[in-house]
Amino acid sequence: MQEAIEAVLGKIDFDPEELQTKYLEERDKRLRTDANEQYVEVTGDFSNYVDDPYVESQDRAPLFDDVEIAVIGGGFGGLLMGGRLKEAGFSDVRVIEKGGDFGGTWYWNRYPGAMCDVESYCYLPMLEELSYVPKNKYSFAPEIMEHTQNIAHHYDLYDNACLSTSVTALTWNDTDKRWLIETDRGDRMTAQFVAMANGPLNRPKLPGISGINDFKGHTFHTSRWDYEYTGGSNAGDLSNLKDKKVGIIGTGATAVQCIPHLGASAKELYVFQRTPSSVDVRNNRETDPEWAGSLEAGWQERRMENFNVLVSGGDQDEDLVADGWTDIFRNLTGTAAKLASRKLGRRLVGREKGHLMKMADYQKMNTVRDRVDDIVQDPATAEALKPWYRQFCKRPCFHDEYLPTFNRENVTLVDTQGVGVQEITPTGIIANGKEYELDCLIFATGFEVGTSYTRRAGYEIVGRNGNTLSDKWAPGLRTLHGMQTNDFPNCFFLGFTQTAVTVNVPQALNEQAKHITYMIDQVRSQGGSTIEATSEGEQGWVDEMVDKATLGERFRAECTPGYYNNEGKTGNTNGFFTGSYGGGPLRFHRILADWRENGTMQGTEIS
Ligand code: NDP
Repeated sequence: MQEAIEAVLGKIDFDPEELQTKYLEERDKRLRTDANEQYVEVTGDFSNYVDDPYVESQDRAPLFDDVEIAVIGGGFGGLLMGGRLKEAGFSDVRVIEKGGDFGGTWYWNRYPGAMCDVESYCYLPMLEELSYVPKNKYSFAPEIMEHTQNIAHHYDLYDNACLSTSVTALTWNDTDKRWLIETDRGDRMTAQFVAMANGPLNRPKLPGISGINDFKGHTFHTSRWDYEYTGGSNAGDLSNLKDKKVGIIGTGATAVQCIPHLGASAKELYVFQRTPSSVDVRNNRETDPEWAGSLEAGWQERRMENFNVLVSGGDQDEDLVADGWTDIFRNLTGTAAKLASRKLGRRLVGREKGHLMKMADYQKMNTVRDRVDDIVQDPATAEALKPWYRQFCKRPCFHDEYLPTFNRENVTLVDTQGVGVQEITPTGIIANGKEYELDCLIFATGFEVGTSYTRRAGYEIVGRNGNTLSDKWAPGLRTLHGMQTNDFPNCFFLGFTQTAVTVNVPQALNEQAKHITYMIDQVRSQGGSTIEATSEGEQGWVDEMVDKATLGERFRAECTPGYYNNEGKTGNTNGFFTGSYGGGPLRFHRILADWRENGTMQGTEIS
């Protein structure tokens, strides 16, 4: 065992048992029986937290017309769906989007410093289709939002779109073979096919603590940033905060990006932390025009594939992206085991592989913790900013200005040792038994995960014979390849409903969009009017999901709570990874490609 570890990691200078004990102690501090129930839904008294601050809604007459394909959601999923359909010759496509424009997560998340943390050359979809190369290795939000709108223009998706429109119900009419789509604009339109691209993290969540609506200062969620109040832009310079005491709750991927700007602009900033993020080197840089000019046709797909293979534990001759993501995966996946095998001239046996990966993880997280000590001057603050869990217990973050922000005199870290803030008062926040007076309170508390699909979508879906999707999926998701479900004809899902999760989410959405386009195209070419997953087809995929489900479960049970592990509670049928295919994205994409290649539409019925 030791031999394999030293072959890859060199001499181990830490005590793994001590670390494991520390990790479990830190996890236990954060475990709570209410798990997902600790958050409140942004409805009723809290619905103002999801109002669209970016657009004045325009009146329009309700629609009672019919379209061939309705795509619900105008983010990356909806844009890829609309674009691929247009490419396949479907012209009667309507995108319905609750935001005032296209962009999805990049429409809503405009907070200062918002940027993609996956390399932009892989992350921004359809770069070659639009002949565009992003300005930086990691793009900032305004460029990404502009790109989403360029995609919509490129594929003429604005023409028939319904923006600032929320779907309120979807009902299948088996006589007309049409979906009735009702919206908050009074629309009652119909569509032969519907594709749902609601986004996996679309609904902001708030902590279920008392007093939120009693706060007399200014407050908002990061996904509805109020620039009118703060001043400034995505690039920072939040000049209206210069005489304000600002508090921010949360230290996840969003907070890591906006805290440096708040620290630079606010008179005083209080960061309320429950669990620290793992924050590694970002190293963003401008795109080299010479490199951009040298790219040859097919470059983006090759780059995405190269990245996807590496972050799925596979081998590639070259690491084209070569960043924090590929670095982590190189160390923490089967790649490390392969390297050890090569160096030792034998296969790893028994528990050697798992042990090696655990040691590599400990070593990696030690470097992340050392980085905190190197950057943060106050030892107590540095200690509180160290993450004590394995790398993939929470979303890894990469940022070069986050940790230095805690060296500013006007910035205070209020570490709550896993407990969280206790109460909100008319004048501030109570944490660790002390009240912090604030003028402005920002919720960087993330998005709903682990609640039912229809609750997050915001509408019910009623299929054949009045069956609702909520009832059907209450005991757990049931789909064919994550994209269709029996009793819901001509209805497709994009996202993580039994598909494979990838680091580069738009790539997964692109694979799904291509697959759904293929299926609709088959209905057209076979002269049919409906396509539906059969019970047998659905059962086959459910069995495959169960077969591959054990991967990662034990790992996540030992993790500090968060949305990756259902806030520390097992058995949630709507959990983030419960709905993802344990066989991984490489296998999943191959299954889809083989299925199309086979051409028999196995597991579906076209009529
Ligand atoms: P997260 O869910 O990751 O973070 C929410 C934060 O709020 C956590 O730090 C959480 O603490 C904290 N919190 C919740 N309740 C309380 C409480 N009662 N008291 C104190 N703190 C509390 O949300 P984010 O918006 O940061 O990120 C969501 C996801 O969005 C990311 O995981 C990532 O996938 C994506 N994202 C992607 C980006 C990109 O570049 N592609 C950029 C930003 C986000 P605790 O950890 O203890 O639960």
